Amino acid sequence: MSQNHFETEAIRQQLERTQYQEHSVPLYLTSSFVFEDAEDMRASFSEEKQRNLYSRFTNPNTSEFVEKICTLEGAEAGYAYATGMSAVFSTFAALLNAGDHIVSCRSVFGSTHTLFTKFLPKWNIETSYFKVNEIEKIESLIQPNTKIIYAETPTNPAVDILDLEVLGQIAKKHNLLLIIDNCFATPYLQNPIQFGADLVIHSATKLIDGQGRVLGGVTVGKANLVREIYLFSRNTGPALSPFNAWVLSKSLETLSVRVDRHCENALKVATFLEQHSNVELVKYPFLKSHPQYHIAKKQMKKGGNIVAFQIKGGLEHGKTFLNKINMCSLSANLGDTRTIVTHPASTTHSKLSVEDRAEVGITDGLVRISVGLENVEDIIKDLEQALV
Ligand SMILES: *Cc1c(COP(=O)(O)O)cnc(C)c1O
Repeated sequence: MSQNHFETEAIRQQLERTQYQEHSVPLYLTSSFVFEDAEDMRASFSEEKQRNLYSRFTNPNTSEFVEKICTLEGAEAGYAYATGMSAVFSTFAALLNAGDHIVSCRSVFGSTHTLFTKFLPKWNIETSYFKVNEIEKIESLIQPNTKIIYAETPTNPAVDILDLEVLGQIAKKHNLLLIIDNCFATPYLQNPIQFGADLVIHSATKLIDGQGRVLGGVTVGKANLVREIYLFSRNTGPALSPFNAWVLSKSLETLSVRVDRHCENALKVATFLEQHSNVELVKYPFLKSHPQYHIAKKQMKKGGNIVAFQIKGGLEHGKTFLNKINMCSLSANLGDTRTIVTHPASTTHSKLSVEDRAEVGITDGLVRISVGLENVEDIIKDLEQALV
C-alpha cells in the first residue's frame, strides 16, 4: 500500500495539473492523441514510449481511475471497463483457453452465473460450483485443467461470507488463480489481495459511483495477468468512457465517508429488523447472529450496506411488503444513496426453481435491502409501516 491513508489517496491521487493550474481534474473527452512526427508515432505504437494513443487503449481519465483503484486495493496494475460484466467477461476471456475449467462459488451475480453456464461452455470452458457453506469441498472439485477459483463475498442477495484467507491458501496450494468480485465490500471495507487473491474485479456501478448515475467496471491485480487482460481488452473494445471514468474517480474521493454512513445505517436497520415480530431471520455480516460473523470481522472493516431478511409468510407477504413501501425504491440497482428494496423470489430470481433458489440462499420470504444515505429514522419508518 501507499504511504498515505486510504481517504487521502482516494482524494489526492490525481493526474498532473495542466498549464491552466486547475484544482479539479479536467475531462479528457478525446478519442485519440496526436504525435510529434513519424518517429514519435513509431516509438509509441511499438510501446517503447508509454503514452496515450487511442482511448480504447488508455485515456488520462480512465488511467487516473484505474491507478487509484490499484492504490486502494494494493494492486500492481489494472484496466477499466464500460460495465462490471465486461470486466468479468474480459478477465475470463483473456486468461482462459478452450478446455480450461473454473471452480466457483454457486452464489455469484446472476449474469456471471449465465456466463458460466451458457456462454463459456461454447468455448468448452466448464465451471464446477461449490455452495457458499461448503468451502471444504473446493479441493475435490479441482481438476487437472482447472485454472481459476472464483468467488464473491459478501454474496448477493443472501449476504453470506466466504473466508478469503482459506480461498487464498487453497489457490496457492494448487497453483490456481484466485479471482474475487469485491463489489459488495468496495476497496474501503476489504482488500482480497491481502488474503492471496491474484485479481480483484469491481462493478463500479454500485457503491463506487454510489449515486446511481453511471455504469463501470475494473479489474486490478498482478501486472503479468493484467498485461494479458489489457491486450485482450484493447483489441476487443470494452473500454470505460472517459466521462464515466471522470465521474467514478470523483466518486472515489467520497467513498470512505459514504460507505461509513451506509454501514452505520445498515447496522441500525438490521438491528431494528432483528427485533421485529414479522421478521424471521436477519442476515448482516456485522450482526453477532450472522453465521460467518467471525470471518466477516476478520476480513472486513465494517459490514457493508446490504441487509437481507426473511419476512414471515413467504412469497405473498414478500410481495405485499414491496407494495406497501412508500419512500424506498423498488429497483434493480444497489449501493445508491437511495435505499432500494427487492424481493428476489418474485422478481430477479423468479425464473429459478425453488431448489435452485435455495442453492443460493433465496427463500420465498427473502427481502434484500440496499441501505442508502437518507436519515436512518426515515428508512426504518418506511420499513416498519410496510411490515405490518
Ligand atoms: C452489479 C454486479 C455486477 C455487474 O456489474 P454491471 O456494472 O451491472 O455490469 C457484477 N458483480 C456483482 C457482485 C454485482 O453486484
